[in-house]
Amino acid sequence: MARAVNAEASSSRQAARESPEAEGGSDDVRRTKPALGEMEVDDEWNEWTVKTYKSQALKRDVASDGVLTRIADGLRAMETSITDSMSKVIDTAVAVEGNNPDDEMAEELAKSLCRSIEVKAVLEVKYQVIKDILRRMRAGEEIEEIVALYEKEAADKTEEYMKKTPRQKFVKDDQYSQFRSEVWNVNHGSEACPPMSHWLDKTDGDASDSDDEVEVGPTMQNFKCAITHSAIVDAMVNPACKHHYSKINIYQLFEQQDGRNKKAAIKCPSVGCGQKVQFNALQPDKQFQQRADQYFRKQQETADQDVEDFEED
Ligand SMILES: [Zn+2]
Repeated sequence: MARAVNAEASSSRQAARESPEAEGGSDDVRRTKPALGEMEVDDEWNEWTVKTYKSQALKRDVASDGVLTRIADGLRAMETSITDSMSKVIDTAVAVEGNNPDDEMAEELAKSLCRSIEVKAVLEVKYQVIKDILRRMRAGEEIEEIVALYEKEAADKTEEYMKKTPRQKFVKDDQYSQFRSEVWNVNHGSEACPPMSHWLDKTDGDASDSDDEVEVGPTMQNFKCAITHSAIVDAMVNPACKHHYSKINIYQLFEQQDGRNKKAAIKCPSVGCGQKVQFNALQPDKQFQQRADQYFRKQQETADQDVEDFEED
């Protein structure tokens, strides 16, 4: 997926270079970029330098549209790589917990996961700000000081997010609940994983009554098909967003929406996920399926045990 994003990004940059507007500008102008800290992550971006779009009123301009699109694509690519790293943190924590129950290391990993969740959320905030500016430009709005506007809106929205309490940030986060439930499962047999609020104490900013908070349930949440919400079978993972689907369901969805045109992509059916599912990119996730099977087996054992207990009485 990251590769596809880059390819798209470079083709939009290509377009910007070939456009008359871009050719008209001086070399310096064309090779500049808005000063966005994150871009340093990717060396490829270093060929752009500051200044370009400062102090220039830009209407819908091929070059600036291209630059913003490229930044947006870059932010998305970074989100994807953070999601990848979060999966590794979860796997590591599961391994640590297997070796040495209640090792402090698992809590350290939880903290690092939380930092990653925050970084990813901030990238998403910036992505949405750029998308919004692009939308306004494309609708014909004249925007002066695009960079200043971007920086202000991104800073405001980042601040708004960072003000949230840990509970608000993480209690409904998919990766957070996956981390907690998988680590829990290692040493708790068939005992259901507590709700996420168990690990996220209320702090000053949290409402005193949490009745309106719908909590992410225990582990079942993580072992269900993103399409049908039933127990996952033949798990397939979308590398773009890490959502899992039962093979038969995602194939069926492609058939319905796409006539199973293997070149095309459909929108990820998971609610709130903005990623695409590429038919050819779908991969079987045997490890995930094993964990799911293990979970369902334990659930079944508990149920059987309950029946036996009942019959003995
Ligand atoms: Zn998804």
